[in-house]
Amino acid sequence: MKRNQLLDSINRVVVKLGTPVLTTEDNRLDTSRMEELVEQFVWLRKKGIQLAIVTSGAIVAGMRSLGLRIRPKNLAKLQAAASVGQSQLMRIYERLFKERGLIVGQILLTKDILTERERYLNVRNTFSSLFSSNVIPIINENDSVAVDEIKFGDNDTLSALVTNLVEADLLIILSDVDGLYTNYPGEGKLLFRVREISPEIEELAKRTGSSKSIGGMITKIEAAKTVTKEGKMMLIANGRKAEVIKKIFAGKKIGTLFLPE
Ligand code: GLU
Repeated sequence: MKRNQLLDSINRVVVKLGTPVLTTEDNRLDTSRMEELVEQFVWLRKKGIQLAIVTSGAIVAGMRSLGLRIRPKNLAKLQAAASVGQSQLMRIYERLFKERGLIVGQILLTKDILTERERYLNVRNTFSSLFSSNVIPIINENDSVAVDEIKFGDNDTLSALVTNLVEADLLIILSDVDGLYTNYPGEGKLLFRVREISPEIEELAKRTGSSKSIGGMITKIEAAKTVTKEGKMMLIANGRKAEVIKKIFAGKKIGTLFLPE
């Protein structure tokens, strides 16, 4: 099946925006890139596709405001940065969507939704209610309160769980890499399609990384396993490239698409 045929059937999509997509080299939130992405999200909504966004960027943005040049090791400082950055992020998303007639809702999650049934069901109901009210959920880990026991740890993992939770058909992970390569990024060939997450694929993932993202390729492959096992697709693409969402939905050969198991 061709890419555009596969993507034609998408009704609901989760898009994960990594820190390298949302922030500049000097750790500011990149509002012009955010605006370009929001325009494409609005375009998706107009096509009748429902959307949830998993956003990173809070900690790096908060670090900048608090004058921290390197990621603090101290938990309280890290959580303070997350607290400051998260509200900055939401303010920007809210304004950009509002200018285009759409409402957003913030959801901050901790991992205990996976172990406590009642919490899980509650969150699921909240999501359905947001979707039926035409609100775009914007999700992040609740970094300012999460401690190790209740942490997802990275947003690749979180976005995969959210994809299954909201029963989306596709997870798009936007980062600063073009996808999965057969060798180091830029060397080897870009894999356009992965049918099965074999040990060889996992081996390739170990060679790729990015200085700002927490997970690198390993957590992305884990995310792919989580969603493809549930019959959903996942796509990794470069969120720093112009019109990336539109190109994906036009069926252009960009990024790496993982097919459902
Ligand atoms: N939740 C973190 C933040 O907002 C990002 C985690 C990640 O990028 O995986 O800064």
